[in-house]
Amino acid sequence: MSAVKKKILFVVMDGLGDRACKALGGLTPLQYTSTPNLDWFAENGTSGIMDVIAPGIAPGSDTAHLSLLGYDPDKVYTGRGPFEAAGIGLIGKEGDVAFRCNFSTVDNNMIITDRRAGRVKAPETTELIKALNGMVIDGVEVIVKEGTEHRAALLLRGPGLNADVTDADPHDLGPVAVSKGRTKDAEFTASVLNKFVKASYELMKDHPVNLERRKKGLPEANILLPRGAGSFPHIIPFQKKNKMSAACVAGVGMIKGICGVCGLDVIDLPPECTGGLDTDMIKKADAALRTLNDYDYVLMNVKASDVSGHDGIAEQKCSVISRLDEMAGYIKNSMPKDLVIAFTADHCTPIEVGDHTGDPVPVTIYSEGIVKDNVKHFNELDCSKGRIGRIRGHNLLQICMDIANRSEKFGA
Ligand code: ZN
Ligand code: ZN
Repeated sequence: MSAVKKKILFVVMDGLGDRACKALGGLTPLQYTSTPNLDWFAENGTSGIMDVIAPGIAPGSDTAHLSLLGYDPDKVYTGRGPFEAAGIGLIGKEGDVAFRCNFSTVDNNMIITDRRAGRVKAPETTELIKALNGMVIDGVEVIVKEGTEHRAALLLRGPGLNADVTDADPHDLGPVAVSKGRTKDAEFTASVLNKFVKASYELMKDHPVNLERRKKGLPEANILLPRGAGSFPHIIPFQKKNKMSAACVAGVGMIKGICGVCGLDVIDLPPECTGGLDTDMIKKADAALRTLNDYDYVLMNVKASDVSGHDGIAEQKCSVISRLDEMAGYIKNSMPKDLVIAFTADHCTPIEVGDHTGDPVPVTIYSEGIVKDNVKHFNELDCSKGRIGRIRGHNLLQICMDIANRSEKFGA
């Protein structure tokens, strides 16, 4: 007899975990806020706590999501450049070197006068990017793509590249920095990068977009300044590794980038799903449930809880949690049969800290027929008494695959 292979949904409530808050009488926002729907999943499921990377390590959202997807961030995380590039749809191949960039303003002496070129944006940046694409420098192919506002990504592709180079963006006003190789092997890449920066100035300084901006007295977007070099890592695509088709439903570029690099399909969302505090969580949940019609595995990220943790306002985080609970209620009423669903976070963003910490996060897994434990509330403390115990981030996928009847037998 072979059991039916279930589908899997991860609901990652970004930065949800917290610590005891003075403003909430010593409770965490999750303990303080009434969450009947998340509690329903805890009561009917099995719970635990999770060190997303390792005990006491404060994860970034990027490294945390790699871990949740079952990868070892120590092996595959090569810096922000490639994942940010992927976040705006520029997914490179293994060995490509990627950078984050700003459109900036320089004067005739290459002195930076505005690091964001007056927050220039599309359609002007789209036109400028057209002028920059198609360049080949010393045998290296140059690919650029615009991001939001003054942001862009740069990808270098060719033989002999090495990402160990310093930024051409000095992160301040003043002269453009000259990129240097930190090792001898990286000197060639630094020289290509410096040539690109110069070429970007030559190609953009008298571009019609800038002639128009000059007429209007706006800062010209006449140079592209790259930073945060990283090479695209060798990653076994998620689908191949786990024998499941997979997609991600997220509003934030960086999460989309991480998932894209791991081979997940990145689903387009309605504009109401912003990745910010004002996001429409029900629409996002609806998109995730629809996506499950076509995929075996879906990762859904809601960023608002992290934003409220960074803002450090207790009531704001509690109200985000109430909305997350409504979203959990929507999922409860609309989820398909034969689903394994995990509610969790990628890290804690305690309101009294205003940043990520290494405290473990709560996790609850629900599926029809799962062994229930005695946990009745979804929060940092109650979940720690559950049957899953204390796991690492990369364990979660395997545990859910097992519950979904997708785990392969080890041995005879
Ligand atoms: Zn996060
Ligand atoms: Zn954060």
